[in-house]
Amino acid sequence: MYDVIIAGGGPVGLFLAGEVALSGASVLVLEREQEATPPWKTLPLGMRGLNAASAETLYRRGLLEATARASGADVDTLGAAPEASEAPAPQDLSHFAGMTLDAADIESTALRYRLPGPAMEGFMTSLAAIEHVLSERAATLGVEIVRRADVTAVTQDDHVVTVTAAGRRYQGRWLVGCDGGRSTVRTLAGFDFVGTEPLFTGYVAQVTFADPDRLPLGFNPTANGMFLRTPFEGHLGMMDFDGGAFDRSRPLTPKHLQTVLRRISGTDVTLTEVHLASSFTDRAMQATTYRRGRVLLAGDAAHIHSPLGGQGLNLGIGDAVNLGWKLAAAVRGTAPDGLLDTYTGERHPVGAAVLDWSRAQVATMKPGPNAPALRRLVHDLMSTSDGTTHVYRTTSGLFNRYDLADEQPLVGRTAPDFRFADGIRLGELLHRGRGVVLEFGAQRVLRDAAGRWKGRIRYAAGRARNDLGFTALLVRPDGVVAWASEHTPDREAFAQAATRWFGAPDT
Ligand SMILES: Cc1cc2nc3c(=O)[nH]c(=O)nc-3n(C[C@H](O)[C@H](O)[C@H](O)COP(=O)(O)OP(=O)(O)OC[C@H]3O[C@@H](n4cnc5c(N)ncnc54)[C@H](O)[C@@H]3O)c2cc1C
Repeated sequence: MYDVIIAGGGPVGLFLAGEVALSGASVLVLEREQEATPPWKTLPLGMRGLNAASAETLYRRGLLEATARASGADVDTLGAAPEASEAPAPQDLSHFAGMTLDAADIESTALRYRLPGPAMEGFMTSLAAIEHVLSERAATLGVEIVRRADVTAVTQDDHVVTVTAAGRRYQGRWLVGCDGGRSTVRTLAGFDFVGTEPLFTGYVAQVTFADPDRLPLGFNPTANGMFLRTPFEGHLGMMDFDGGAFDRSRPLTPKHLQTVLRRISGTDVTLTEVHLASSFTDRAMQATTYRRGRVLLAGDAAHIHSPLGGQGLNLGIGDAVNLGWKLAAAVRGTAPDGLLDTYTGERHPVGAAVLDWSRAQVATMKPGPNAPALRRLVHDLMSTSDGTTHVYRTTSGLFNRYDLADEQPLVGRTAPDFRFADGIRLGELLHRGRGVVLEFGAQRVLRDAAGRWKGRIRYAAGRARNDLGFTALLVRPDGVVAWASEHTPDREAFAQAATRWFGAPDT
């Protein structure tokens, strides 16, 4: 019997597997595909943008450098200079429906609580690169990964989940469906999946053009849809507003792609070869809850939407880092009542907001007279400092705030990367996926209290290079501030917060 079974060894399943295994729990990943890096996961088709929040999450588990290197990104450009005392201005390159931000217009005074650290920016990766790093980490932590294991049956009772994959039965105390947008686990476990039907069919392909100069590079909205050419030779994206009518179970033929491209681009461009191609839609759906008994969902299994603005993987990593430590506590038997249900409570609204963000982008691209007018309006708003800042705050993922019923504005948000005078950073203290108490200054008011959650909460004290006016903070394993004090720390208030998130203290 495994503590946790994860269906799907994509980026979210692999990251979650490592998160749970950090606590010593036994974890099994069942993955349908034999091959770990099929060509469509490598560049250019496998290209994925990680936002600053995902970079920060990787940093907090000691995975930033390896992921950046595997992705060909320059680690030194992702963070502040090592001894910087101020956070650098964002260099964000995100966009809204192809309209890019001018990072110089981001209002840094609206970015409260930023401290310099190694992970200030997002970067481009590929599915192959990130999955490689995450599989290695999972293997190091003892996760068992079984390939060619297509999950086909799931049953659960009050104690056990039984999963059938490739004719074998596996049992676990918990099952998480990380099996992507067409999740079998979601269907078999009876989750409701609701939302909006598609307006378009999208295509990504690697092709050879007879006459590439007929198609300009970049994001090109047209009267009939949109086509995108990136600097990668032959890398093509298209949105065809067919109401999602294309039958995606049919093979994607070169003839079909050429017909769609000619119609959308209004040119007679010729594709001489199609090397790889796949399709997607802007169907925007979300599970109404992310937990049914002993079965949970994360990543695309919990929510799907168009890839416009590149948010799906970031959202899934956010799910996994939120769920991992809660599930580990449930396995260990230390989870306070209701902890696992805070996963849906915290992550569902974030998912719903991303679905709306993608719907709004589609609305600005729909053929007809209204979308161009809307596009001009959004463009004008995005040209203002407030508009740019709003888009940055949304797409960077750093400004989400979970409602933890505490008025202190930092509570519920990702913690700034506090740094002690000796150079140790909060991000490093989080590597092992435990909670952290930071106490700043000469006093050690919380030391004994924190010791009552041995193995669950790590205590660190000293003078901070910049304490932002705080005297002490309790940070959850996912880097979210659970409690913060601006006065002499109150042991009782700390103990209440620690019990709320980490369970009863040791006796
Ligand atoms: C063209 C395109 C561009 C994108 N760009 C971005 C971007 O720039 N930034 C971003 O954040 N997101 C982007 N996304 C979205 C992102 O790729 C997904 O959100 C992300 O891959 C989801 O990860 P996942 O692990 O949840 O699911 P998946 O990556 O779909 O992985 C699911 C895994 O489960 C396995 N599986 C499925 N069924 C079963 C079963 N029954 N049994 C066992 N295993 C099973 C699959 O083989 C797969 O390995 C893009 C998507 C597309 C289509």
